[in-house]
Amino acid sequence: MTTHITREYPRTCHFCGDTFISKHPAARFCSSRCRQRMFRWRKRILFIQRECLSYIHEFEPYLRFSDSRAHTVELMKDIKLVIDAIWRENNIKVVR
Ligand SMILES: [Zn+2]
Repeated sequence: MTTHITREYPRTCHFCGDTFISKHPAARFCSSRCRQRMFRWRKRILFIQRECLSYIHEFEPYLRFSDSRAHTVELMKDIKLVIDAIWRENNIKVVR
């Protein structure tokens, strides 16, 4: 008779945050669905970042002209305020 000893490790899913029991100490996801969703989410967030950066860089030329400079800076400050508010609402402390 063979006795199989399997250890079980309590883990927290890196996608949905649920707790689960795994036989692998390094398991990060509760299911293949969550692993796949995290993979898609990472691709999506990189796409969003590229899009945002390209739009933000469109502000730059307007900083050169005195007529639009102050207004452009105000618009850019608004973007920064939105980002700061999102971090605050999600309890994210940014160390500079
Ligand atoms: Zn999960």
